[in-house]
Amino acid sequence: MYDLIVIGAGPAGFTASIYASCFGLKNLVIGKMIGGQLSYAPDILNYPGFEEISGVELTEKMLNQAKKRGGEIVMDMVYEISKIEGGFHLKTQDGKEFDARTIILATGVERRKLNVPGEIEYTNKGIQYCATCGRFDYLQSVAAVVGGANAACQTAAQVAHSAKKVYIVYRSSELRCDEIWKKHMVEHPNIEMIYNANVVEILGDGQKLTKIKISIKDPSASSLQTKELAIDRLFIEIGGVPGTALLIPLGVKMDPGGFISVDEKLSTSVAGVFAAGDVVGHRYSIEQITSAVGSGARAASYVFSFLKQQIAPTLWGSSQIKRN
Ligand SMILES: Cc1cc2nc3c(=O)[nH]c(=O)nc-3n(C[C@H](O)[C@H](O)[C@H](O)COP(=O)(O)OP(=O)(O)OC[C@H]3O[C@@H](n4cnc5c(N)ncnc54)[C@H](O)[C@@H]3O)c2cc1C
Repeated sequence: MYDLIVIGAGPAGFTASIYASCFGLKNLVIGKMIGGQLSYAPDILNYPGFEEISGVELTEKMLNQAKKRGGEIVMDMVYEISKIEGGFHLKTQDGKEFDARTIILATGVERRKLNVPGEIEYTNKGIQYCATCGRFDYLQSVAAVVGGANAACQTAAQVAHSAKKVYIVYRSSELRCDEIWKKHMVEHPNIEMIYNANVVEILGDGQKLTKIKISIKDPSASSLQTKELAIDRLFIEIGGVPGTALLIPLGVKMDPGGFISVDEKLSTSVAGVFAAGDVVGHRYSIEQITSAVGSGARAASYVFSFLKQQIAPTLWGSSQIKRN
């Protein structure tokens, strides 16, 4: 039986494993994709210690460090977790089964996609799902942000700071963000709102995106008008889907946004199950690598304390402890 199984091989999961190994815990990381979202990041400029590094390279470094410290890494997908005496039983897609005393869920968030033609082709070639990621070279560029909640408005404000023009393309007739952001969007000279609009296609020259095709609904005439916008950047900010489905049968509580509810020790409502990284939502994470690694480290240290308190007789039995 493992002391800890970490589900998710992104920055939170690797860090949890590194710390768990340093605490002397026998640990296994199971991730359906090595690196998680990190592996999509083309150019990371905000992770301390590396002035500039690609997501693939940083993934490789985290993976090697986790292995070197003693963590086992398996590329597979966990589809079932059940409670057993003294821990949990996990089943994976590849037909493997594992037991662990504790679990850290670090399954991240899957960014919602538009699912329109051109989206896959131009991802990282003008399309971004994260404005704080990558370079801030929006000067003289024209950008569009899709979405109408706080994240979309914050992205628009951030991009408009240096871009020539920013369109907000939103499917409803009114923004869904806080009042302060609404005011900012309306008053900003570089931001133009396009309401009742959906992106239907993303077009480019093969190397980078050059325009989007949007369909705008005229509510009074109930007709649709199609329009093309020439842009250099497209930010898709329509939320994310946390990887929590796995925990629902265990009875782990979620917050109203569908993220895992945790206490200040990153413990879920089920004893022995912890969570770290983007999957815990905005209260404990800012959906960035720094935040994910921080919570991965914290979760592993709380697992260590939990095991010490819960199963001290088997792990740190008094007969094994030398006392002066
Ligand atoms: C294009 C892009 C660029 C980015 N650039 C930056 C940047 O420059 N700087 C920055 O700080 N942040 C950046 N981010 C954000 C950053 O990557 C995330 O905040 C970070 O990766 C979150 O880490 P995590 O470990 O919580 O989750 P993730 O990285 O999402 O990892 C989750 C892991 O869980 C796995 N998983 C899910 N379900 C299961 C299951 N049932 N069984 C097994 N495994 C499972 C996934 O496959 C994955 O391995 C970027 C994100 C994207 C998409």
